[in-house]
Amino acid sequence: MIHFSQLPNIAGGKILLYSEDRSIRSLIIDSRKTTAIPDTLFFAITGERHDGHRYIRELYTKGVRQFILEHGIENLEELQGANVLQVESSVDALQSIVAFHRSQFSIPVIGITGSNGKTIIKEWLFQMLSKQLSVVKNPGSYNSQVGVPLSVWQIQSHHQIGIFEAGISRPNEMQKLARVIRPTIGIFSTIGSAHDEGFTDREQKIQEKLKLFDLAEIVIYCKDHQPIDQAIAASNRKCFTWGYSSDANIVVVKNASDFTVSYEHQNFSLSLPFSDPASIENCFHCIALLLWLKYDHIYIQESVKTLRTVHMRLELKEGINHCQLIDDTYNNDLAGLEISLQFLSHQHQRTRKRVILSDILESGLDKKDLVRQIATLIDQNKVDNFIGIGSALAEYKNMFHSSASFFETTETFLNTFDTDHLHDEMILIKGARSFQFEKIVSRLQRKVHGTVMEINLGALVHNLNFFRSRLNSSTRIMVMVKAFAYGSGSNEIANILQYHKVDYLGVAYADEGVDLRKNHITLPIMVMNPSEESFDSILTYNLEPEVYSFKILKALIYFLNGKPCNVHVKLDTGMHRLGFEESDLDELIRLLVANPTIKVASIFSHLAGADESQHDTFSTQQAEKFKSWADAIAAVLGYRPLYHILNTPGILRLANFQFDMVRLGIGLYGVDPTAEKFQELKPVATLKTIVSQVRKINKGESIGYGRRGVAGHDLTLATIAVGYADGFSRAFSRGVGQVLINGKRAPVMGNVCMDMSMVDVTGVDVKEGDEVILFGTQLPIQEIASSIKTIPYEILTNTSERVKRVFVAESI
Ligand SMILES: *Cc1c(COP(=O)(O)O)cnc(C)c1O
Repeated sequence: MIHFSQLPNIAGGKILLYSEDRSIRSLIIDSRKTTAIPDTLFFAITGERHDGHRYIRELYTKGVRQFILEHGIENLEELQGANVLQVESSVDALQSIVAFHRSQFSIPVIGITGSNGKTIIKEWLFQMLSKQLSVVKNPGSYNSQVGVPLSVWQIQSHHQIGIFEAGISRPNEMQKLARVIRPTIGIFSTIGSAHDEGFTDREQKIQEKLKLFDLAEIVIYCKDHQPIDQAIAASNRKCFTWGYSSDANIVVVKNASDFTVSYEHQNFSLSLPFSDPASIENCFHCIALLLWLKYDHIYIQESVKTLRTVHMRLELKEGINHCQLIDDTYNNDLAGLEISLQFLSHQHQRTRKRVILSDILESGLDKKDLVRQIATLIDQNKVDNFIGIGSALAEYKNMFHSSASFFETTETFLNTFDTDHLHDEMILIKGARSFQFEKIVSRLQRKVHGTVMEINLGALVHNLNFFRSRLNSSTRIMVMVKAFAYGSGSNEIANILQYHKVDYLGVAYADEGVDLRKNHITLPIMVMNPSEESFDSILTYNLEPEVYSFKILKALIYFLNGKPCNVHVKLDTGMHRLGFEESDLDELIRLLVANPTIKVASIFSHLAGADESQHDTFSTQQAEKFKSWADAIAAVLGYRPLYHILNTPGILRLANFQFDMVRLGIGLYGVDPTAEKFQELKPVATLKTIVSQVRKINKGESIGYGRRGVAGHDLTLATIAVGYADGFSRAFSRGVGQVLINGKRAPVMGNVCMDMSMVDVTGVDVKEGDEVILFGTQLPIQEIASSIKTIPYEILTNTSERVKRVFVAESI
């Protein structure tokens, strides 16, 4: 156990405040973590857009008493009873402290690096080794400069082996991670194009990654990867290889349905539960490691057989009785539970929180200790109701405070629990595979019809950060969540935006703003089309109307009758949709000055042609007009409202007009409306349905209403569960639209119907129930839109609200 008084020796720096020595149990870098207690140590990290020092006081109020800072803060002495160390770099200090922690254990530690497969290899090794050993590993893909130390910090005395992955994006990062992980065994997976931009060439990238293994006894890799092989051979590291070539230590031969593995003059056969090349490769990295550790063939054959696909995701979906479910039924260990509980505590759409959890198997802890740790996590994350399923949880039920109930098996829960008790709750469902919690999910979820829209929250946050990286750090972001957040589901999207600290939300109508407030969204919200009837809700729910005409401004003044209100003044600089014109400015200024309780929170305008370079001169003129008109207003107001004019294409193409704030819309969903096609954006939405039926059609037969499609040849036809009532436009009829089934494109046959459509799947391996992608990563919205001569905005927002939205996030 490390104590605060040791830190200057371990991490350097100088003590700014010291009250009493304390032990350090948990490390946090994110002020939003809820599990903050006196023996937590907080690292204030300064990033380009983020400054951890701003949250010190808030954390102190929550009970944190130990801090590492990069610079002093005002009135530091008020933090009575706290210990504060100032260092040059908080991230370096974090790494040093964990490197010290690591040095106190002499267990074997496997370090994994490479461009692809790291997380899967790590999870599979965990599946294979945890049957016999107590294993510690990174949660999820916590493999960065801060993720790695937080992972390695978990090592405790009962652990028998560690498995940690390390990822880097530029030179000089790996040495730092090597010091923290200090692997005794290395695995180098593959080398690919990821993060190429950070390195001069592949060779440099390989050399950099290899630094992870500077102190390792052995490096395991696939001999068939020539660049890796050459680099490792040249480096004189001791290595242990597998491959299809005969000079590998482990030689693999692929047969019709299995593999023959030859190692040290012995052969054994192996059948793998996966057939895709990437999984096979990941699997053999694991097998090579097991052979190196001297596991016998039988153990290897058995554990390979039970390997399971790694699902790194949890799903947020609609439940019965206005509940929301977080479905995380794929894996379970303590670190994964902590991540899921945090995800639960960040969902503010429902106030009451419930957890349904199974026993955690293969944790390496004794039962009592394990249940105690679970109970602590449940407590710290402010769970209102707990349901434990399994004999271990039931045996130690006394460790749980508050409202908890216990069941021996999933069956007894399903047979005896009255689901009518569940109302308006956020419910996390997390169980080990053998408990078959999918049965609970299926009982509690609102029945989904064939079609769902899947929203990838990780991609959404990635896109948000991409836009942030293109803006000055002081520029604020308003995210437009009008039209059901471009079809993606307003409340869930707004909740995650609030968590990631955007500055403003924008909606089209007051109702949309009211709904957000009812779902506990506290960010400022601009309403673009405030009607007079909506003024009352605008005031009640603390919304901020846009004013674009004298009619609306005068009505508002009359309604407010001296009460204060924030407004946003819209200027028409060339879009000619809404807004005041130049000739209106004098009158506008007179009214604003006469009504000082109306506060102009911002002044804004909208570019008409930000997406195309042919309009750049016009856009520049718009921006110049905007600036001079806004300055004229601000000059008499006596304070400076926020200025903003850029939407997504504007941020991408005309960032010099960012002023104080931008209004981000479609780009957040990974759609680039410009011709420039920014590769960094990741698609967020996938619309999918299922195959309802498959049939053969003879040449000459007609298909669908009006007998509009006639088979030109014998074909196989699939009926899919989506129609124009779901938002699958009728314009896709008769070959115009295509869908994706099992990786193959299938054109629409005949006319799209209200709830169904038919597609030609001749030559594709298709059966009832198969998944059909209508748009997503492999079938971009841009392409779909242009096939029916419309724009991605319309495709996204047309998706009917009867289509259920499912939100997925990374878990483990
Ligand atoms: C919808 C909207 C935006 C966002 O536009 P995108 O092109 O989707 O980024 C910005 N400003 C106003 C006024 C809008 O109505």
